[in-house]
Parts: sequence; structure tokens; C-alpha cells
Amino acid sequence: MNKRTFLKMLSSVAALPVLSPVLNWALGDKLKNWAGNVEYSTDRLYSADSLEQVREFVRKQANLKVLGTRHCFNQIADSTQYFLSLKAMDKVVAIDSTARTATIEAGITYGQLCPYLDSHGFALHNLASLPHISVAGACSTATHGSGDGNGNLSTAVSALEFITAAGDVAKLSREHDGQTFQGVVVGLGALGVITRLTLDIQPRYMMRQYVYENLPFSEVKEHFDTIMSSAYSVSLFTDWQKQRVNEVWLKSRIEEGHSSPEAPQDFFGAKPATKDLHPIAALSGENCTPQMGVPGPWYERLPHFRMGFTPSAGKELQSEYFVPRRHAVEAILATERLHEQVRPHLLISEIRSIAADNLWMSPCYGEPHVTIHFTWKPDWPSVKSLLPVIEKELEPFEVRPHWGKLFTITPANLQTSYQKSRDFIDLCRRYDPKGKFRNDFLNQNIFGVIS
Ligand SMILES: Cc1cc2nc3c(=O)[nH]c(=O)nc-3n(C[C@H](O)[C@H](O)[C@H](O)COP(=O)(O)OP(=O)(O)OC[C@H]3O[C@@H](n4cnc5c(N)ncnc54)[C@H](O)[C@@H]3O)c2cc1C
Repeated sequence: MNKRTFLKMLSSVAALPVLSPVLNWALGDKLKNWAGNVEYSTDRLYSADSLEQVREFVRKQANLKVLGTRHCFNQIADSTQYFLSLKAMDKVVAIDSTARTATIEAGITYGQLCPYLDSHGFALHNLASLPHISVAGACSTATHGSGDGNGNLSTAVSALEFITAAGDVAKLSREHDGQTFQGVVVGLGALGVITRLTLDIQPRYMMRQYVYENLPFSEVKEHFDTIMSSAYSVSLFTDWQKQRVNEVWLKSRIEEGHSSPEAPQDFFGAKPATKDLHPIAALSGENCTPQMGVPGPWYERLPHFRMGFTPSAGKELQSEYFVPRRHAVEAILATERLHEQVRPHLLISEIRSIAADNLWMSPCYGEPHVTIHFTWKPDWPSVKSLLPVIEKELEPFEVRPHWGKLFTITPANLQTSYQKSRDFIDLCRRYDPKGKFRNDFLNQNIFGVIS
């Protein structure tokens, strides 16, 4: 941080006696996202630890964004004015074992929440590949795991509390607020500051995961539905080379009172791995959740990566595309045809399945989808010129990008691909008439304003 920015920050502290700025950045680098590919447009980061502090901060600022755990790869979280962190608001407020819900403060991460739920006898329906991310940030971008029967993580939200642009407290629930609630849950950070979320929970369960190597693409083509429904959560990792899926990750629930059948020695031609693997073959399986069929709690099997270890590669970029399930095989084969162009830039790809939901800005709105994900080497100029090639290939399959990852699909195409985008804009205007929570990403991709 240069001297000018630092002084500017101190003068804004004086104007805001209640909240304290997070000064870590004064000592080191500029404020960046987790991957380091986005340098945020301001380092004025404030931390709130109560509802009243959030309300006061929102009332005072003309423009701000909440920063979660900074795991998005694009500018969706960026601000040129102020950031607000709710990291200090990380408590579990209540567990209602009759209603089977947990109410949490919005700064909590899955890594903090899951062991707590488990120790109280409860679990969530699904998790992303990593537990390091904030629940509010993940739900705001429709973050997902895998599993034919599993909606994305935001489908677990049954109620939420957020602070509107006026500083008012809005409380909405699935039960009482129908369409409005469905519009707000995947809110892309555009509606206000989420301060609390209530999540559906269920009794804790145990799981085991098996990994298989070298699944021929011919089998994927012939048996896609059977393969993807063969476990509670299924991931196919491929480098698109040699007409095969490199690793199949099968995560199964161990139902009490039922003996688990032995894992077959052959899975559609793929063979069981002989040790714990990382999705990127060159990296150590130590960073990953235990495999080889070893039983463990749900929160240590659903994510691929372990808390306390670097998830994925660390030095990387990510893109991910959703296509309706009915186009899955064609879309996968179309991507495979690009294998020569993709190869030099790719670390690994992953194919997952997600159930349909009714959340307006969820890419899985209205029908089940599959995702084709790319973990890229950190070379944005090359990736940037490759993305339009992939997007063109996937265009016939009604492709939509992950809200938190890198894409080049035009705002016009993005907006028309969401049936409810007009209603979402109206909803944003209701809670934030002057665009207090908007940034360039939202102006371009949602509101259609190129600034
Ligand atoms: C290694 C790695 C693995 C990943 N794996 C997966 C995966 O398996 N599946 C998947 O779908 N995605 C995955 N992602 C993407 C990631 O889950 C999403 O980008 C998610 O949004 C990150 O949450 P965050 O808190 O870090 O968000 P941030 O980047 O901090 O913020 C994201 C958005 O949420 C908003 N926001 C955050 N908190 C609040 C709040 N309290 N109120 C209002 N708005 C808020 C921000 O303003 C911003 O618009 C992965 C990312 C990484 C880096």
C-alpha cells in the first residue's frame, strides 16, 4: 500500500468511528483474491462484528461490497470504494433439531461450521470441493458440489437476513416469501449484506470414497447416466487426453444398518486406485480427503480437499460451464474435440452433476445440469484467448458460466440465458435503488451498463 492510500484510509477511519479497518494490507501486498489473479480496486477493508455495525457502515457508504473468503476468480466481489468483511461474525446462532435447521452468522466458513454441526449430530446435504469458503459467499454465487440428487449449496438455505441499501434489516424465508425468496438466495452480492442464513440440516452420516483410474470416454458416452448415478456424489477428472477420464471419484453414504458392498474391481473399465490420489496427478494425495473406502464423517469426504491444506493447485485459474443434463454427453464430446488446444494450458478438468432448483440466478434453475470445469495454469492471456473457443463450442448446449469463475461470454448472452434476469434486476432495485452494492462486474453482466 502506498502512503497516499494509507493516509486516505486513516482519514476514512476518522469518519467511521465504530468500525475498524483491517490494516494487514498496510504492511504488505495489495489486497488480492485467493488465487492472486485479481488485485482488488481498493484496499479500504473494514471489519464488522455486529448487526448494528453493519447497518451503520451500510448507511454511511454510497458504494461497497462484502468480501467473503476471496475465492472467486473474477471481479464479482471487487469494489472501487469500500469492502466490508464479516469474518468476525462467524457464530452458529442456533440449531433447531425439530425443524432441522441451523442458523449461522454470515462470516462463517464451511470449515468452521461442519465440525460443529457434526459434533451436534447434524450434517449438510452437500459441500463444494473445498471447505475453506464462506457460506454466504458460496451461496451468493450458487457454488455446488456433485450428485444427481443434490442441489447446489444455496438450495440448503431456508431463510436469510440481510441489510438493504437503506440500512434496514430484511428477513425472508422459503416458507413465507415464495418468489422473492427464490430471487434473493443466489444474490451475487447485489441485494445487500447477508448477516444471517438458516440452512437445512439432517442427521450426521458417514461416507466412504473410492477413486478409479482410466475410464474410457466410450464408456462415458454409452453409460453417462449410470456412471453419474452410481454414488451419492460423482466427479470425473480428465485432462482430455487419450480418450479417457483419468480419475473417477465416487463418494457414497454409509447407511446405518446396511452393510456396504465391496467396491468392484472394475468400474466400466476403470481400475481402483492403489493409494490416495490428488485430482492433479503430479500433486500429493495428502492434501485430499481420505479415499480407498476408509469410512469417515460426511464433511471429511464430500470435499476433495482437506481443511488446513492448500486446496487444488494454489497457483491456478478456474473456469466452469453449466449445460443442461439433457446435453451432457454431447457437450463433453464437443469439449473433448478441443483437447489439443486445451492441453498446454490445463492442469485438470472436472465433470459434475447438479440437481435442478428454483433459485432465479442459479445456473441450475428449472432443470438438472452438468458442469465442465477447467483448472488452468496461471496464464491469463492464453486462457483468455482460449475461453471464447470453448464457449463457442458449448453455445449450442445453452451454456452458462459459474458466477465466481473466469468467462468471456458476453453480457447480452448471459442476460438472455437467465429466464428470470429481468425479475432479478427489479428485485435489486427494490432493495438497492441507487446501486450501492453494484460494481463493474454487476453493471456489465447483470444490469447491462458498460462503465
Ligand atoms: C480452490 C477453489 C476451489 C473451488 N471449488 C468450487 C467447487 O467445488 N464448486 C463451486 O461451485 N465453486 C468452487 N469454487 C468457487 C467458490 O466456491 C466461489 O467462488 C465462492 O463464491 C467463494 O466464496 P467466497 O466467500 O470466497 O466469495 P468471495 O469471492 O469473497 O465473494 C463472492 C461473492 O459473494 C458476495 N458475498 C460474500 N459474502 C457476502 C455477504 N455476507 N453478503 C452479501 N454478499 C456476500 C461477494 O460480494 C461476492 O459478490 C472454488 C474456488 C477455489 C479457489
